[in-house]
Amino acid sequence: MRTGSDYTEALNDGRVVLIDGEKVDNVSTHPAFAPVIKTIAELYDIAADPANCMQYTAPETGETANKVFSIPRSLDELRERREAIEKWARHTHGWVGRSPDHVGTFLASFAAHPEVFAGGERDFSANMVNFHQRILREDLYVSYAIIPPQVSRATTASGWEGDYLQVGVVRETDEGIIVRGSQMLATGGAIADEIFVSCIKPLGPDDRDFAISFVVKPAAEGVKLYCRRPYAPAATSSFDYPLTTRYDEPDALVVFDDVLIPWERVFVNRDTDGVRRQFFDTGGHVLGNWQAQIRFATKLKFIAGVARRVTQVNGVDKIPSVQEKLGELAALVAGVESAVLAAEYMAEPDSAGQWLPGKRALYGSMGLQSEIYPRVIAILRDLVGGGVLQLPASVKDLQSPLTSTDIARYVQSPGVASEERVKLFKLAWDIIGSEFAGRHQQYEMFYAGAPFVVKGAYSYRNFGYEGPLQDVEDFLNSYKPETV
Ligand SMILES: Cc1cc2nc3c(=O)[nH]c(=O)nc-3n(C[C@H](O)[C@H](O)[C@H](O)COP(=O)(O)OP(=O)(O)OC[C@H]3O[C@@H](n4cnc5c(N)ncnc54)[C@H](O)[C@@H]3O)c2cc1C
Repeated sequence: MRTGSDYTEALNDGRVVLIDGEKVDNVSTHPAFAPVIKTIAELYDIAADPANCMQYTAPETGETANKVFSIPRSLDELRERREAIEKWARHTHGWVGRSPDHVGTFLASFAAHPEVFAGGERDFSANMVNFHQRILREDLYVSYAIIPPQVSRATTASGWEGDYLQVGVVRETDEGIIVRGSQMLATGGAIADEIFVSCIKPLGPDDRDFAISFVVKPAAEGVKLYCRRPYAPAATSSFDYPLTTRYDEPDALVVFDDVLIPWERVFVNRDTDGVRRQFFDTGGHVLGNWQAQIRFATKLKFIAGVARRVTQVNGVDKIPSVQEKLGELAALVAGVESAVLAAEYMAEPDSAGQWLPGKRALYGSMGLQSEIYPRVIAILRDLVGGGVLQLPASVKDLQSPLTSTDIARYVQSPGVASEERVKLFKLAWDIIGSEFAGRHQQYEMFYAGAPFVVKGAYSYRNFGYEGPLQDVEDFLNSYKPETV
């Protein structure tokens, strides 16, 4: 199995990652990326240790592989898959959204349904199966860029002024397709082995050139990754910013300057129905988003723990109205965790024998995520009060002879020494108030699509309104106007 150092060494491949108008020499040593790369490397080391029970023999290759990349063929395998995902999520406390298990899960389901990739002008089914086997064998970290850039949402790309703002096929050659344009955002793209590029937003008949799906190495000629401002380099220390300094995943606009994508890396070409089917007819969207909910539940439990500790330290945890707030928090968190387990309980095999979590529970939980996360943050914000600002500027104030005595005297609580109190409240600030925290709120609200999409398309369509409708119909038919 791949180790953390195997992963880290592979990143120094000449990829064009751009920050502040300059190209980054080597992401693994750059202060913007090195911290989160270290975290991803730790995940690989955890998986490589058999004691962590993340390994299995993949039937597709006959070799040892990571369960997070498995195609679940039974309810037990689905459960084991969840437990492996949880193992990783617990290590990051849910603060890394696009760890290798996220896109790796989508691609496992895609490979479970090779027929979906056989329906276009060419048969790409073997490409998908082969690529998934590479993930299994090589433990690849794949990120994705599947949303068009936010140029205008009034029309799709074919209606925009300017050719190829969204990535599309310029021409086909014997070797492959030449693609040009951009895609909105690849979280983790700058530190991944591969980027999966496609379009999940619905496309119209005039958008055929943009209806593509392929994988590309970040170091492929013509690929450029424009990263948002990184937060980790500005963080003064891990004591001051405990989350930013470990989990600041890069988000990057991906630009393609006439990039050759060899045919064996193409999964869909100029097929608007094909790009839709890969997400929704393979189970990929279900299994991939269940991975995200498992991570999300882990993160919410961590935040709940911080909230409870804050109330203990401030001596308010016995006050009934505070317990009511903690109770609301508990209810929100328990709801998400329960939906993860309910989806597993409602799981069924699909036509390929792949076990998929129940859609009603999964998409029901996702539909409320854009409200649950801000509410959870608001409760923590309420509980910490000004304590997150009654903090020394940095850890240096705890160490300097000029300041340490006052800090030790005034920034403490009964039975809680200054260092412990400051540490806790700085963690709380990294959850609710830092730039990292702000980005996380945006992430949880949007990573699976804008709220109107998640509710209107996913929660609404997958609830199964037929049953409740029939119940109401039967009830209404059970009585007639009374005869007077
Ligand atoms: C932190 C972060 C990380 C991300 N990481 C990734 C990644 O790794 N890979 C990836 O592919 N994408 C990623 N994304 C992109 C994410 O998938 C998109 O943000 C999401 O799909 C919503 O698209 P959008 O941002 O273009 O919003 P839009 O579709 O432009 O919507 C923005 C808002 O406009 C309004 N609106 C727009 N259109 C309509 C409409 N038709 N009807 C009603 N209201 C409308 C709504 O208020 C909506 O919330 C990430 C996003 C964030 C914030």
